[in-house]
Amino acid sequence: MLDDMLDYIEGIRERPVWQNIPEQVRGKFRQNLPKQSNDLAQVHQRFMQDVLPYAVGNSHPRFMGWVQGGGTPVGMLAEMLAAGLNANLGGRDQMPIEVENQVTQWMRELFQFPSTASGLFVTGTSIANFIAVLVARTKALGLASRRTGIVNSEKNLVAYASVGAHACVSQAIDMAGIGIDALRLIPVNPDFSMDLQQLEQQIEADRAAGLSPFLIAGTAGTVDVGAIDDLDAIATLAQRHGLWFHIDGAYGALAMLSDVVAPRLKGIERADSIAFDFHKWAQVQYDAGYILVRDGQAHFDTFATPTSYLKRETRGIAAGERWPCDFGPDLSRGFRALKAWFTIQVYGVERLGRMIEHTCALAQRLQQRIRNEPKLELLAPVNLNIVCFRYRDSELDLDALNRDIVFELHESGIAAPSTTKVNGHLAIRAALVNHRTREEDIHEMLDAVLRFGEQLSQLPKS
Ligand SMILES: *Cc1c(COP(=O)(O)O)cnc(C)c1O
Repeated sequence: MLDDMLDYIEGIRERPVWQNIPEQVRGKFRQNLPKQSNDLAQVHQRFMQDVLPYAVGNSHPRFMGWVQGGGTPVGMLAEMLAAGLNANLGGRDQMPIEVENQVTQWMRELFQFPSTASGLFVTGTSIANFIAVLVARTKALGLASRRTGIVNSEKNLVAYASVGAHACVSQAIDMAGIGIDALRLIPVNPDFSMDLQQLEQQIEADRAAGLSPFLIAGTAGTVDVGAIDDLDAIATLAQRHGLWFHIDGAYGALAMLSDVVAPRLKGIERADSIAFDFHKWAQVQYDAGYILVRDGQAHFDTFATPTSYLKRETRGIAAGERWPCDFGPDLSRGFRALKAWFTIQVYGVERLGRMIEHTCALAQRLQQRIRNEPKLELLAPVNLNIVCFRYRDSELDLDALNRDIVFELHESGIAAPSTTKVNGHLAIRAALVNHRTREEDIHEMLDAVLRFGEQLSQLPKS
């Protein structure tokens, strides 16, 4: 099995990025519960035949869709060790929790947070954002609100993010019981960063209307175009208005690993909380989201629930005052920290930083070639590693055509960008995240875009 997976990773470049799943293969996974045991080798064979070839393809060098990391063999082996140990990191006295604490210490160092800051591995940034909203909510309403509930609060909380914020931010506000309408989506500047003048006007208008502004969620690397809000200015503004400053840095925050990109995140060190994913730019295997909170006590106060069943002792396995389960909704938790620890330890910050710079350089190269191709049009300036463009040399409806080009790219298995809307236009969106992507890959993708664009434009209109 180990050989098969190492071969798979080694040969990934020769495979199609993605393949349509044959109905007959899908059908094999509609069976009833197996009563008898099956031979492990046979089950493994089925995995190799029916599952492995039909994954999404984010390990592939020409996968450029959404924002997905490529994974590494190191992360894969760490996953195997973690699974062998089968550790449950909810609490208790064990070295696996010290590994998680070590990563937290590294993150405090990376983001220049104080030693009292707390951190926690979670599934992804969606949940990390949710945790941050809950901490900010409890801070704003007071600890008693954990008993009385938000419905009994006299405060009408309102929060702020840019229109470019990820949908999971409004979902977090929703799940926190605050209601999506209470998230003000602030317009953006031409560079797609939050318009801070409008932000401040909205805060003042909400205050004047008797509402209670409590949180600003800035974004470090928006998911559509990779824009970075002016984090330093937001920090100042949040301070002036006494608001919690959260940063959704799902993929962008770990650009702090690169000395070259880090200055563009100036102000991130002033946040109250940062949500990000190791499974994106840092290439750690899925899933590995993370929440870092400056005020560790506020984080603890939001989730800690004393129960006799989980009593802390002074000695033995149940020793320890604060357990990871005191910092989030999960009690049972896997050993996600190990693959992050292995990845950072084995590759080191400098190499990870260079890898991030490499993907940004590829995005610049792609932008340059798009500018030189008259048939292509750049739809947004390239901030970090995301390039939004379209094929424009056609009589056809360009939105439909560009969507069809992306379908063709996926179904041919050549490359996998995704799509988004930029200023009302459908864009082909290439996010260069994968450490395996080389310059030849972006040319192969663009050559195919030009080829499909021409072919589709020549078809008779249906
Ligand atoms: C990917 C992403 C998310 C969601 O993160 P998950 O790990 O998928 O939950 C949130 N915000 C931004 C900016 C993202 O890029």
